[in-house]
Parts: sequence; C-alpha cells; structure tokens
Amino acid sequence: MPYMRYDRFHDYFYKMSVKDLQEYMENLLIALKRVHEFNVIHRDVKPCNFLHDRKNHKFSLVDFGSAQALDKESDSLKSTSNEHPSDESNSKPNDEEVTCDDKNEQSTPIKKEIPAARAGTPGYRPTEVLLKYVNQTTAVDCWAAGVILTSILSGRYPFFESRDDSHALDEIITIFGDEMVRETASVLRRNVPISRKKRPLHLRKLCICMRNLQKIQNIPFSDNDTTTSNCDNCHQLLFNCLCQDSEYNTDFSNDIYPANVYDLLGKLLTINPHNRISAQDALQHPFFQEAY
Ligand SMILES: [Zn+2]
Repeated sequence: MPYMRYDRFHDYFYKMSVKDLQEYMENLLIALKRVHEFNVIHRDVKPCNFLHDRKNHKFSLVDFGSAQALDKESDSLKSTSNEHPSDESNSKPNDEEVTCDDKNEQSTPIKKEIPAARAGTPGYRPTEVLLKYVNQTTAVDCWAAGVILTSILSGRYPFFESRDDSHALDEIITIFGDEMVRETASVLRRNVPISRKKRPLHLRKLCICMRNLQKIQNIPFSDNDTTTSNCDNCHQLLFNCLCQDSEYNTDFSNDIYPANVYDLLGKLLTINPHNRISAQDALQHPFFQEAY
C-alpha cells in the first residue's frame, strides 16, 4: 500500500463539525460496503484502521489481517490470512465459558463446544461475537462503525474499555439494557446467564452527558451512588436521568449534532445482528441526505 499521510483520530474526534462527521461516516460506510460486497468481514474496524487525511479529505480502510471471507456454501467463515497479528487469537476452538460480568448476582458459567470467530479489538466486538455465535456476518463491522460514531458523538475514546468479553457484555447491558441482550441471545440460541436488570439508556442524552462531563463533573452510570435523588437505573441526578424511559424532557437545542445522526447510531448499534443496518442501507440514511 502506498504511503498516505493521516491525522490521528485522537487529535480531532472530539471537535468534528457535523459536516466533518458526515464526511467521515459516509466514507467509512462506503469502504465497508465495498468490502462487504466481496463477502468479506474486516473484523477489526476501529479508528486507527481507518486512516483520515483531514486536509486532503482522503480516507483509507487498512489492516485486513483479521479479515474473514464468508463461505456462502457452508455458511461459515474462513480466515483470509494464516496469521493473526492483532491482539487475540483468531477463530480458535472455543471451549471457554460464556458469562456476563455481573457484579450483583451469581452467574453460572456454561461450557460451549463450537468454534466461533472472535478476532478484533476489545471494545469493538458486538454481542454476537461476545456470545460466540458461529454464523457471524458483515454486521460485525457495522457495530464497530457504530462504536466509532459513539466516540465522536460522546467525545469519549475509546468508548468501551472492556478488559474481557464478559466485561464487554456487561458494558453493553449497562447502556442497552438486559432485555435486548436476553432476546438476542435467545434468537441466536446462545445461553448466557444474565441476572442483572437494567433499563436501556437514551443514546442522545448519554452522548451529550459524556461530552459535557468535564463541565458538570458527573460520573456516568456509576453503580456506587445510591442517593435517593438519583435515578435507580442510570444513577444520575433525576433531572439529568439518561434512561430511555425517563419522564424528564431534555432540551437538545444546544446539541451541535442533529437528531438523525443518533437515529443512525441506534441502527448501527442494534444488538440483534439480524436487525442491524447494513453499510449499504446506512448510506441511504437521512443523515447523509442533508447538506451541512
Ligand atoms: Zn435514569
């Protein structure tokens, strides 16, 4: 690959204008659409693998070391490379335990016997990878694109700081609630013990809260604060409740990002991979139809 100058995501992600964001996400999804047309899952979509030259408006999706081709005939995956240079082993036989990092309740580990691909970087793995679902698809990359978008919208990078898969599942439950994860596990016929009850958070409120974190000096979704004036689910002060079902109305008029980008975010970060938006369909989303 020829040399390409690029800017570090770390230096610009928190100050992207809507136009910058639109250009960035559109190019990321175009790259994914192209890869997916070849029935290939990139599997390691993250900011440092999506080079961006801001000055020249150039983009490049790189590092296909974890990529996997979808084998249409056998409906399974095969690696496109023999070696996996990244952080964890690729498609290794899975005799690990599937558990949820549940601090409140005891959970029973379940032995699983089937191989499931789990290449990629912690924090960018979707539920189906964490649940070790065998028939993974290109939807894996769309989730990772959603995680990148969350970093931009929330000003937090990396967004998920999972130390392992069970902790990662716990982080997902904290934001998206336990019901959706339970339902998806059932649809994918994966058995994961989740005893924790958590209602979903409102993505836009969460992103804005995290972006303003330094101003309001509030700690998001800490499980330690049990003050009565705090919400029992998100643990924020009630007027600042981040829950999807909160009765408190939030004024979004000062948000620099439009409502429709959060709609796109929700479609990319759909827990059930069968319902997650594809790169091709995401490019048709209203967020990309407006000029900013
Ligand atoms: Zn709440």
